Amino acid sequence: MKRFETLYINGHWVASHSNEQLEVVNPANGEIYASVPSADNEDVNTAVQAAKAAFEDWSQQPAEVRAAAIHDIADKMQARASELTDAIVASMGCPVSISAEMQVQSAIDAFRSFAALAGNVDDIHEYPSHIEITEAIGVCVLINPWNYPLSQLVGKLGPALAAGCTVVVKPAEQTPIQDIILAEIINQSSLPDGVFNLLTGVGSKIGGALCSHNLVDMVSFTGSTQAGIKVAEAAAPTVKRVCQELGGKSPFIITKGADFAAAVRYGVEDVMLNTGQTCSALTRMLVPAEHLAEVETIAKQVAGEWIMGDPADAKTNLGPLSSHKQQARVLEYIAKGIAEGAKLLCGGTEVPEAFSKGAYVAPTIFSAVSNNMVIAQEEIFGPVLCILPYDDISQAIEIANDTPFGLASAVYGENRAEAIKVAKKIRAGQCYLQGAFFNTDAPFGGYKQSGNGREWGKEGLKEYTEVKALFVDDCP
Ligand code: NAD
Repeated sequence: MKRFETLYINGHWVASHSNEQLEVVNPANGEIYASVPSADNEDVNTAVQAAKAAFEDWSQQPAEVRAAAIHDIADKMQARASELTDAIVASMGCPVSISAEMQVQSAIDAFRSFAALAGNVDDIHEYPSHIEITEAIGVCVLINPWNYPLSQLVGKLGPALAAGCTVVVKPAEQTPIQDIILAEIINQSSLPDGVFNLLTGVGSKIGGALCSHNLVDMVSFTGSTQAGIKVAEAAAPTVKRVCQELGGKSPFIITKGADFAAAVRYGVEDVMLNTGQTCSALTRMLVPAEHLAEVETIAKQVAGEWIMGDPADAKTNLGPLSSHKQQARVLEYIAKGIAEGAKLLCGGTEVPEAFSKGAYVAPTIFSAVSNNMVIAQEEIFGPVLCILPYDDISQAIEIANDTPFGLASAVYGENRAEAIKVAKKIRAGQCYLQGAFFNTDAPFGGYKQSGNGREWGKEGLKEYTEVKALFVDDCP
């Protein structure tokens, strides 16, 4: 077991005031993989003070210096890519076949992309009436979940550094190790002390102190809608900016003229990826009622192709859920779906004997689901797909929008033009057309209770900036 005993504050490794440790459990076998300090409110205050002190100088550095620091960190991440992958495999159970590329390499590439955007912050825009400049917003608290732990970290850290902000980072309890590796990397990098500070700890214990601190200018939060509401409540009295990236229950409309073999395969694979623990997973598949039987046959066949196993084995593409707690939650939802009368096509509440020590759940597909069932309304966050039949496209759009969430959506139509027509009627931050995939150049964020922020690319950078108007009497 690896035991980490220090937090990273102001360029130094320091003991937590709490003297408490948090255990990190490998969900594939239930064994303790590591332990990390559980920070307390005093640690929060020390880290925020350090970030505040570093802001004045860091925010005044030119774009080239900020960009160079990002490249320097990215180079060092690249050199330790396999360690980052191992940490994610062991702490959240994401198979190595997926972790190495999707969780780590894409994250390093995406982090580097923010170096090219740093110059946007230094641009000066002159208008006949005034001049506009952009400045770093200040001290940012970055709170992340466990499902794509490194991507979510760099999706916040990249724009924060590019803009000239300083940060206090709090990873999820289940997955702190890649953040500790990143702190070790930053400790060896050109980034000045105090710009990056890392607190491992329990969100419900230190979240209030982090979000309500009067020296914090912004909180960027990714996680559940319930915790996102608490973050916003804690931040409200100090009127700081709160960017929320929350849960989803995303619809995927397949229209009558679509290629069903391709569309259904795409939809099933999208949900099973990362064992269903993707916020934008297309968990409600809406299909024409007259094609339901055909869809069920294809869906069942594709689900059967997933190889459940040890996440450290290169052949595995379906690992355990991130924790036994998450497994219990998902199994409870599956039991609810069965009790609600949905048709169970495959999977279910049985966990194969060979995997009984791990937090495994078999790929599970329900058909004949109606949108008022709990399994169609609530985010399950596991390898569970609901197939909902519809009669005509207007009913499909109505069902797609009948959810408190609005994170992602997808349409597979007869052609791109039809898909775009339907996409414009869906209330969600993204719509993937004809089998397209996520990329980090495009803005990512939700409508409704899926949040109010936009991460990645130019829109992601804007979250970390303020715009200042300069009024001068000799404007051009
Ligand atoms: P969670 O809300 O339980 O935890 C997320 C983070 O919030 C953790 O670091 C946790 O310690 C912290 N936290 C918990 N309570 C807090 C509080 N009161 N104050 C401050 N911080 C607190 O979520 P999770 O189970 O780790 O992640 C799964 C959820 O995240 C799902 O709902 C998923 O959809 C969502 N998610 C959203 C996106 C997105 O971009 N929209 C991306 C990934 C995950």
